[in-house]
Amino acid sequence: MADFKPKKIVIVGGSLAGLFTAIVLQRLGHNITILERTPSSDLQDQGAGISLYIIIPPVRDSLEKLGTSGSPAADFLELYDRTKTQTVVSDTMQFLNRDGSVKRVLQREGVTGKMASWDLLYNILRANFDGGYEAGYIDGVEKLAGDGTAMYLSGVHVTGLHDVGDEVRVEYESKDGKGSMEADIVIGADGPNSTIRKLLLPEAERTYAGYVAWRGTVKESLLLEETKAFLGTKGIMFLAKGQQALCYLIPGLNGSLVPGDRSANVVWYTNADEEELKKILTDSAGITHTWSLGIGKIDQSVKEEQQGKAPLLLPPPLAEVFQKIESPFIQAVTDSLATKAVFMNGKVLLVGDAIGGLRPHTTAGCSQGAMNALLLKRVFEKDGGMSVEEWGKQVVGWATLAHKIGVQMGNLSQFGDHPMADNGPEK
Ligand SMILES: Cc1cc2nc3c(=O)[nH]c(=O)nc-3n(C[C@H](O)[C@H](O)[C@H](O)COP(=O)(O)OP(=O)(O)OC[C@H]3O[C@@H](n4cnc5c(N)ncnc54)[C@H](O)[C@@H]3O)c2cc1C
Repeated sequence: MADFKPKKIVIVGGSLAGLFTAIVLQRLGHNITILERTPSSDLQDQGAGISLYIIIPPVRDSLEKLGTSGSPAADFLELYDRTKTQTVVSDTMQFLNRDGSVKRVLQREGVTGKMASWDLLYNILRANFDGGYEAGYIDGVEKLAGDGTAMYLSGVHVTGLHDVGDEVRVEYESKDGKGSMEADIVIGADGPNSTIRKLLLPEAERTYAGYVAWRGTVKESLLLEETKAFLGTKGIMFLAKGQQALCYLIPGLNGSLVPGDRSANVVWYTNADEEELKKILTDSAGITHTWSLGIGKIDQSVKEEQQGKAPLLLPPPLAEVFQKIESPFIQAVTDSLATKAVFMNGKVLLVGDAIGGLRPHTTAGCSQGAMNALLLKRVFEKDGGMSVEEWGKQVVGWATLAHKIGVQMGNLSQFGDHPMADNGPEK
């Protein structure tokens, strides 16, 4: 795009990938409107940790080949976060046996991990994009000369797209009824269930992988001393047949890094067939959900049953953290992959999970969104040297590789014989 003229860009989806993309393009002088269906006050309360660094060697190497350090989410913050907010540092992963003894310690030389929470990242990105939001806790930053305009509209559900010559018409529904707006470029950052992808590539379906992730956080000060000793700058992980669990510290409430105020973030993957999935995803009001149940929605008996199993199946520190989660939430692990990310002659693009809904074991979901955005700079900046078609090839190629690696990792740990598994006696 050698002819530089500020473009009117609409981004569908105001989560991480949408905000990474918005900030990159806005700093190039383009005018951005984000349309997000969920109110910000609901969006921010995701209660989950996000690893900003990539430790899995083939995933990391593939991201290095695209001109990043291997951890593009961390690169993004270095380059674009004008608030200079810090995250939790973690440098080691300890694999535990079921009895709690350490089986193996994994540390990659020269790689220092950064752990954030979804909530902290969202706040950092909103502070940089549009100066924060009502309930946000990070002060917004001044716009600089040359930045484009920034608008974040919540409660706007996009329903349709139409090619209208040089522009694209976006149709939506909001509390005020149906509406539409025109844009030079539309970017679908609307996640693994992407409406934009469904409209343009209906064959790219989202499918269930056969297991679920139980997730939640616990304030560090509530943990036993011996459990705290396992954490600090170290993550812990446990593998057994059909089980995988991990835990690491993340920033606490309002991004606090003060020891004691930080949160232990735990994820426990367990297998569930379609029948079990239905039971797990039926909320306390009796409504069955398709892919996830948010904080406070899990039926009490389902929660108690799973927390009761923790001491029998998990090493003591992981069991303790899992049992202390007040409001766990559940996500079904799924697969989705687009074969294209560029449509309508370059006027519509997909980014982030809308391209590849990756297995979480790659820890690369957030990094995918950051990498897509960093690479997109080369398409949209003056003399950036990359065509939008080449960008599409690169991002789909990467998502295809990361997807394959994630499927192998997940299937080995959940349905195979993982060499790091400890299948010792249940307690
Ligand atoms: C168990 C688990 C663990 C994970 N751990 C990690 C990790 O350690 N590290 C990591 O990097 N990633 C991790 N991820 C992945 C990470 O959460 C996502 O990759 C990340 O949130 C980026 O996604 P996104 O912005 O592309 O999509 P999403 O976060 O799904 O956001 C899509 C947004 O679009 C909005 N939207 C959807 N449809 C419409 C519409 N029609 N109109 C308007 N708005 C719409 C949604 O409301 C949502 O806000 C994990 C995921 C899971 C399930």
